[in-house]
Amino acid sequence: MSSPLIGVLALQGDVREHLAALDAVGARTTSVRRPEELAAVDGLVIPGGESTTISKLASVFGLLEPLRERVGDGMPAYGSCAGMIMLADKILDPRAGQETVGGIDMIVRRNAFGRQNESFEAAVHVAGVPGDPVEGVFIRAPWVESLGPRAEPIAEYDGHCVAVRQDRLLATAFHPELTGDHRVHALFTEMVRTAG
Ligand code: GLN
Repeated sequence: MSSPLIGVLALQGDVREHLAALDAVGARTTSVRRPEELAAVDGLVIPGGESTTISKLASVFGLLEPLRERVGDGMPAYGSCAGMIMLADKILDPRAGQETVGGIDMIVRRNAFGRQNESFEAAVHVAGVPGDPVEGVFIRAPWVESLGPRAEPIAEYDGHCVAVRQDRLLATAFHPELTGDHRVHALFTEMVRTAG
């Protein structure tokens, strides 16, 4: 597959920034709001934003089950921040009734860095991203509290796991889409390409 079609879940959050980063690394891109749009993509990004809102809108738009099915069937997916929360099998500090798509065998704590420091930037080395560390932009970010055996921690900050890969799924607690450094999007696009 030379140029995969990668969707960005466009219910809430920084959709445009992800579309721009994916365009920059040569993917074809589209917004996903409906099940038919989801069915057409080779891979999906779930953006940063507010996971409680994304979760609620996914239910309202009839996307939660289709998302679970496609991720369960092996569609590559990447989630940043709120997107990481959406890809977690289990979350701590959820809002009442908050559902996730799941897929990654991990427990994620929402707003984990919040009390210390609501938003900050830090250099993060991400396994699989060659060269300099990535500039991690953390905005009311989660961290990964624990991981199952199939999930691989690929970055840590301050003793906490902040990025994970499990087969075709990728998640970061930070927002590479906000930095102009497209290497994480290049990694994901390569994952979609090789899956196809
Ligand atoms: N704290 C937010 C949530 O729970 C995530 C923040 C973000 O995506 N920048 O969804």
